[in-house]
Amino acid sequence: MTTPDSAHPDDPHYVHRTGWLRAAVLGANDGIISVASLIIGVAAATPEAGPVLVAGVAALMAGAMSMAAGEYISVSSQADSEQADIRREAEALEATPADEEAELAAIYQARGLSPATAAAVARELTALDPLAAHVRDELGLSDHLAARPLQAALASGVTFSAAAAVPLVAAWLAPAGAIMVTVVAVSIIALAVLGALGAKAGAAPLVPATLRVVGWGVFAMATTAAVGRLFGVSV
Ligand SMILES: [Zn+2]
Repeated sequence: MTTPDSAHPDDPHYVHRTGWLRAAVLGANDGIISVASLIIGVAAATPEAGPVLVAGVAALMAGAMSMAAGEYISVSSQADSEQADIRREAEALEATPADEEAELAAIYQARGLSPATAAAVARELTALDPLAAHVRDELGLSDHLAARPLQAALASGVTFSAAAAVPLVAAWLAPAGAIMVTVVAVSIIALAVLGALGAKAGAAPLVPATLRVVGWGVFAMATTAAVGRLFGVSV
């Protein structure tokens, strides 16, 4: 079955971006906040750059692996339940085809079609590809939204690493004794850019999305700085 041309090809829908976009924004956001906060926490405890950079590299590696693993596992279980639903649907179509066609007609009727039109649409789509019709119109699954574990894992692992490199490079290039202020400044700018990019890519309002990302970032960095300072005093 062919996909019809869009009525507005110059202004595409955003829905097919949701899968990897969500993983990418989540990964990048986590990368900046977790690695910047860790660097600031260690820098608050010790003024030496060595331990700070070692902790930063370790946080980047550990974070990227856990993000990718987490996405892979969660999206895989989503893919598993989607596949189980599709299998169950195929079995039902095999066992009770007439009931399934009536169910499809009821779905179209509930969407506003007249009983006669709904029955005709259900009959035609059932004759064409019954499973595709049920998967799309009963289960609400489509190619756009299909769970892709590897894509999601890669999207979040790669974006986590790329984003986490920002505070890490800032710490590395920071003048001696100015690691904390440099990392905070660079991370806030990076989070603002990320918030704006995420809002733009998902067609969401710019300011609330940006403030949300920056607000949480500042809160996380302030918390770890306080804890680091506490440890620095007590160690
Ligand atoms: Zn069904």
